[in-house]
Amino acid sequence: MSERDLMNLKDLVALREDLIKLRIALGNRIGARRGENGWVFIKRYSVCKNNHMILLKEDEKREKCPICGEPVKIIEETPSEELIQRYMDLVKQQEMVEDLIANEVTKFPEFTNFLAFIKGIGPANAARLIVYAFPPKFQYNVNKFRKYAGLAVMFTCPKCGYYWYAGESSNGKPAVPSKEGWLCPNDGTKLIGTAARNVKFNRTVKTFLLGILANNLILAGGVYAKIMKSFEEDVATKHPDWPKLRIRRTAIRKAISLLLSQYFAMSLHYREGVPLPEAYKIVLGKEYEVLSKHEDFIIAPITDYYTDTKSVKYKSKFEKIINELGINRDEVIEWFKKKKIVK
Ligand SMILES: [Zn+2]
Ligand SMILES: [Zn+2]
Repeated sequence: MSERDLMNLKDLVALREDLIKLRIALGNRIGARRGENGWVFIKRYSVCKNNHMILLKEDEKREKCPICGEPVKIIEETPSEELIQRYMDLVKQQEMVEDLIANEVTKFPEFTNFLAFIKGIGPANAARLIVYAFPPKFQYNVNKFRKYAGLAVMFTCPKCGYYWYAGESSNGKPAVPSKEGWLCPNDGTKLIGTAARNVKFNRTVKTFLLGILANNLILAGGVYAKIMKSFEEDVATKHPDWPKLRIRRTAIRKAISLLLSQYFAMSLHYREGVPLPEAYKIVLGKEYEVLSKHEDFIIAPITDYYTDTKSVKYKSKFEKIINELGINRDEVIEWFKKKKIVK
């Protein structure tokens, strides 16, 4: 992999996103829908006596004109053959770009040695993760990335206003770790987790990680879907007063953080030859001492390999990888048991 490969992958990822946006915009105009036997096109709109024609979204109902309030008639018609053809061109273009991405992404060791073995991360998502979160660009420090992506939690002192955010603080002093959580270095008060304020972050990257990627992991039902469920139970037990949505979001954030730390450590190992256990010291930085003692901490790369016995193709390949890394399979299974991922 060279700088050029990264730039090329970046361009392909951006092209795919532009194509999807364009395809969806046209699809909304001409009522494109994926049917059982391919695409179907039914354009639906409302017309009032003042001739206001306004498109309807899928399954949307309408009785009054949004412009003048007069009663409307709903029209359903097939869009022009020309527009349908242009739509199909865009579908084809997107597929072509996705084929190119699937090919390019194999130049990245993060994909071939780790991401490819996780259910819910296909070449397109892996490519997005790599171009958005390229570990060398963040000096392999996951906190730097979490800050950039708006994933870090801000810990604030309710007494003096001190804050601790992704390894940075309001006065340069680090927060003090303790059994109960982070403490204020000024007055020893327990810090409270809050949404980050007055910090800039990349919203596209955050939406990708906590929205698209998290959803794909859940839909795939693999090991990361189970980790999220397990974290959700942990959070619910710890905070019985929290609303369901907050519990869910916290669990998703924790699971994505775990995935990112592992991805950064694997990247550092394969790019710089740092042994995996050592790699975590650089990846986690100042927080290594605390996090490495946490019960959720695990060095072995978590993928679907350990529990999935069906996909033979990847199984033997990943077996080679963990042998090279010196991973003890039983330790991983033990961690899975503790997290109730396997019985
Ligand atoms: Zn009208
Ligand atoms: Zn304080």
